[in-house]
Amino acid sequence: MSKFSDYEYRKQPGFDMNTFEGANQAIPMKTLVIHCFDPRAAEIPKAVAEYLGDEVYPGENILDESGNRVGHTRTLFVETNAGGRAAFALESVASMDYIFSVQNVVVVHHSFCGTTTLTPELLIEEFHDHYHADISTLFDRDSLAIMDFETSLKHDIAMLRSSPAVPKHIKLYGFFYEISSGKLTEVVRDIPA
Ligand SMILES: [Zn+2]
Repeated sequence: MSKFSDYEYRKQPGFDMNTFEGANQAIPMKTLVIHCFDPRAAEIPKAVAEYLGDEVYPGENILDESGNRVGHTRTLFVETNAGGRAAFALESVASMDYIFSVQNVVVVHHSFCGTTTLTPELLIEEFHDHYHADISTLFDRDSLAIMDFETSLKHDIAMLRSSPAVPKHIKLYGFFYEISSGKLTEVVRDIPA
């Protein structure tokens, strides 16, 4: 046992990893929204929840009689990264499908995103010049900068659809979000038959 072992589910009495059937009864998660961590884009999850309907966001904690947080009412989870790129969120799709049961993955790219100030080549070259480090093969190159919003959204939805980390039944949506008006525009959707 290490210092924080008591806080691991796998160490709880009665918990068996091999029969664990997921945590949807504790948190009814069904939608993962991937967007940029730009603070001006912080209202994206709420806008997506309203657009999709039938979502609970932000929701609230569910407490047991001792006050422990044993669940939450939220259905829509959020992953943020630079640009809101799907390539950097693949692990989350796979692990959240293991723990919950992902039904929708939503990618949102926003107006005046910082990743429209650069190109993938510039990022790689400048990093090399400043730090003598080669990052050219570390990342999906097309995900390093947004060169065109429709192209970036279609790229991310196509990448998700072709990835083994994304179960084939999952519905995919790509939106453009205008940060000043808060307007959400659907650009692409891929709903399996
Ligand atoms: Zn951004």
